[in-house]
Amino acid sequence: MSGMRRERIACLLAAGISLAVHFAALSATIAFPRDGQKLPAIARCYILGAEEPGVTNVVVQGRNVPVHKSGGWVTMVDLTPGTNTLVAGDAQVTVTVARPPAPRPASTNSVAATPERKYEKLPYAGDKPKAPPKGRKPSEITVVIDPGHGGSDTGAMSPHGLPEKDANLRLAKDVRDELVRRGYVVVMTREDDSFPALYDRPKVAHARNADAFISIHHNAPPLDKDPRQLRYHAVYAWNDIGVRLATAINRRMAAAFGTALPNNGVIHANFAVTRNPEIPSCLIETDFITTPEGELDCWNGERRRKVAKAIADGFADWTKLSDTETTAKEKTK
Ligand SMILES: [Zn+2]
Repeated sequence: MSGMRRERIACLLAAGISLAVHFAALSATIAFPRDGQKLPAIARCYILGAEEPGVTNVVVQGRNVPVHKSGGWVTMVDLTPGTNTLVAGDAQVTVTVARPPAPRPASTNSVAATPERKYEKLPYAGDKPKAPPKGRKPSEITVVIDPGHGGSDTGAMSPHGLPEKDANLRLAKDVRDELVRRGYVVVMTREDDSFPALYDRPKVAHARNADAFISIHHNAPPLDKDPRQLRYHAVYAWNDIGVRLATAINRRMAAAFGTALPNNGVIHANFAVTRNPEIPSCLIETDFITTPEGELDCWNGERRRKVAKAIADGFADWTKLSDTETTAKEKTK
């Protein structure tokens, strides 16, 4: 999931190019050596986050660049204001990080308007919360699966350049297949690299009178966290009916991951796709795509199908709940 504001930048670069990047409270100039300087062709550069104000993590990708941890050809470096030099084999990349000239003045108008817009009711939504479809056959139960992002909205970016939108779509298709195999009616908000508008996604659930809405994402760290370390799974929901669905799914995901991935539980979130008064809705942050290990797991089909099965198991548990029942006493933040 990425927020309203772009906090991460991925840019395609060729050798010999100098690029200025403005990032949060910092701006960086990244200068790559010319072709003749034996620089392994650097194709991409990612700025992933900041451990603390004044320190920015940059990922530089290229052949023969020293590896970060094992099995890759990506390196991450911590940059501090001033000139930083990254040595990559015979060549080097110079990164100059500076404080921006002046902070942008805050617009009081937009700050005041934002909370009101955020809580505006979906025009097509009623306010009669749906209960789990207990007692109905799977063929009478409709669930909308929403692969997050798409098109020009890539979502988060992995160290090797796997966009979150693709990882979301792959997992969402596995979840769809698993649910269809069990007889449920599944509607996808997208099946390709298109970008349905954010507010059109929950609309699909209303148009189809769906019983539930599940958005699938991969996570990226906030600016104050080290992007190389952070990994956990979590499910986000907005209201009680969403929390019950989220809790059922989180429980099965926690069981499937075991000790391999920490569980951050069910978390309250006011997202466009979870803020649904009628249809139980939740957003799954499967894992962090921003660590090399998290990215590797995205490529692992067997692991992905295991996660898809856990999500389908959690959904199936939820469909059997009565009006008042909850699945477990998971921690709710
Ligand atoms: Zn996302």
